[in-house]
Amino acid sequence: MNKYDIIVIGSGLGGLICAYILSKEGYNVCVIEKHNKIGGCLQTFVRDGCIFDTGVHYVGGLDYGKNLYQYFKYFDLTGKINIRKMDNNFDHICFNDNEYFFSFGHDNFADTLAKKFPSERKNLFNYVKQIKEMSLEFPLYNLREIKSPIMEKHLYRKKAYDFIQSVTSNQQLQNILAGTNILYAGVPSKTPLYVHALINNSNIEGSWRFVGGSEQIAYFLTGSIRKHGGTVLTNKEAKKFIFKNRAIQYIQMASGEKSEAKKFISAIHPVRTLEMIEKNRIREAYRSRINSLENSISMFALNIVLKENSFAYMNYNIYYYAQDDVWVAGSYNEKKWPQSYTLITPATTKSEKFADCMTILTYMKFDEVREWENTTVGKRGNEYLEFKQKKAEKLLDIVEQRFPGLRKCIKSYYTSTPLTFRDYTGTKNGAIYGIQKDSNDIMKTLILPKTKIPNLYLTGQNTNLHGVLGVTISAILTCAEFIDINYLIKKIQSDS
Ligand SMILES: Cc1cc2nc3c(=O)[nH]c(=O)nc-3n(C[C@H](O)[C@H](O)[C@H](O)COP(=O)(O)OP(=O)(O)OC[C@H]3O[C@@H](n4cnc5c(N)ncnc54)[C@H](O)[C@@H]3O)c2cc1C
Repeated sequence: MNKYDIIVIGSGLGGLICAYILSKEGYNVCVIEKHNKIGGCLQTFVRDGCIFDTGVHYVGGLDYGKNLYQYFKYFDLTGKINIRKMDNNFDHICFNDNEYFFSFGHDNFADTLAKKFPSERKNLFNYVKQIKEMSLEFPLYNLREIKSPIMEKHLYRKKAYDFIQSVTSNQQLQNILAGTNILYAGVPSKTPLYVHALINNSNIEGSWRFVGGSEQIAYFLTGSIRKHGGTVLTNKEAKKFIFKNRAIQYIQMASGEKSEAKKFISAIHPVRTLEMIEKNRIREAYRSRINSLENSISMFALNIVLKENSFAYMNYNIYYYAQDDVWVAGSYNEKKWPQSYTLITPATTKSEKFADCMTILTYMKFDEVREWENTTVGKRGNEYLEFKQKKAEKLLDIVEQRFPGLRKCIKSYYTSTPLTFRDYTGTKNGAIYGIQKDSNDIMKTLILPKTKIPNLYLTGQNTNLHGVLGVTISAILTCAEFIDINYLIKKIQSDS
C-alpha cells in the first residue's frame, strides 16, 4: 500500500493549490482525482477544434502587484499561463435595449456609470469607496499578516442586497450594480455583502481571460507538484475512509485500492466527504448540519462552435436580463425561462478579431432534470437529448433578439445541464458554487478547514468563498493548519 504524508482528494483548484504549497514545503503529497482528467472546474473540453471552459471564464486581480498576480507568481504560473486583459468596459450589463458598462479602476467605474446617471455620481463614488474599504478588511485578500483566520463577524452579517439598496434609491442603478450576480448566484435574502464586494472589487481592479482555456492552471500546478516530489493520480475515486482508533488510517478507492497517509485534505463537496465516513465516526449533529445546508442553484450551458470568421470576438462579457429585477433570475418561473444569460466569447490563439466559439450560461434548477437523476453522462436517453435541444433553441431565441443572425453563424453546439455539473464536479444537484452562503446565519454556512476528525481537513469553494480567488484564499486557510500562516504569507509576498 502506498503511504504519504498527505492525501488530497480532488484535483480542482482547491486541491491542487494545497498540494502545491504543501509539497513545496517538503510534505510527501498525493492528489487523487476520480476523473481521467485533472482540474475539476478548471477543465476545458474541445469540440470541432474549439476549446471551451467549463467553470472559469475570467478572473480579476491579475494585474501586476494585485492579489491574484502575487498568488499566481508564488504558484509559479506567471509567465507560463497565457492570459489576455479584457477591454476597459469589461462587463456589459444589458436590459432589453439598454446597455451599461462596468469599467476598470474604481474612479473610472463610478465615472462611467455616472455618465448615464449624473445625479447618482456621489452615490456611485461612495459605492466603489465602500467595496474597496470592505475588501481591505480581509487580510488574505490583501496578503497581509493575520492574527486570526476568522474575519470580523460583522463583515459576514451584512447582505449584498441591503447594501446596494442603501447606496442608491435609484432602482435601475441598484439592478445594474448587482448585474453580475450570476457570478455568486445572488439571493437577496441571503447573499452576504462580502461575497459581492470581494468579487466586484477584484474584477474592477482588472479582469483577465485565459487564452486557450483555464485548464492551463491545472497542468502547470500539476507539473510543479510533481517537481516538488508530489504525486497526482487520475481515475482514483475516493470511496471510504478507514479508521484506526479516532483517526483515518487510509482511503479506499472505488477500485478497492487503498492508500495510507498521516493526514487527509478533502477538496470535494463536504456532503460527499461525510458520505465516506462511517456512521459512528462523526457526530450526527455535525453530519446533519452539513447535509441540511442549502446549495447554490445550477446552470445550463450552451457551447457554440462558430463558423470561421462569422462572429466578432468580444473582449468583454454580456450579462443580459429580460426583466429589470436581476435578483429574480435565479428563482425563475419555468414558463419564463430564461430570464437572464451571460455570454462569453473565449479568448483563443487563433484570432483576436473573430471568435471561434461562444459560451452562453443561464440558471437552471435541478428539478428540471430530476427525472434523469439516476442516469450517467452519455447514457441519459433520447428524451433528455430532446429536452436539451428544446432548451438550447429557447435560449437562442432570446439571445438572437440581441444578436440577430447568430444562428447563421453556428456550426454546431453542445449543452450541459445541472446533471453534467453534478457528474463532473460531484456537487449536490450540480450546484455551481457549492454551499449557498447565508448572511442570516453565516457561521452555519462557513465551513471550517478543520473537522472533528483529528487528521481530516477540508478545502475548496465550500469552505470560504468560491471562484479562483476565493478558492485560493480557502486553500491558504487550509494549509495554515499545517504551516504557520504568516510564514506562508511572507513567502507569497516576497516570491519573485
Ligand atoms: C459554470 C461555472 C462558471 C464559473 N465561472 C467562473 C469564473 O468565470 N471565474 C471564477 O473565478 N470562478 C468561476 N466559477 C467558480 C469556480 O470554477 C469554482 O469555484 C472553483 O473552480 C471550484 O474549485 P474546487 O477545487 O473547490 O472544486 P472543483 O473544481 O469542483 O474540484 C473538485 C474535484 O474533485 C473531484 N472529485 C469529486 N469527488 C471525488 C472523489 N470521490 N474522489 C476523487 N476526486 C473527486 C472532482 O472530479 C473535481 O475534479 C464558475 C463555476 C461554474 C460551475
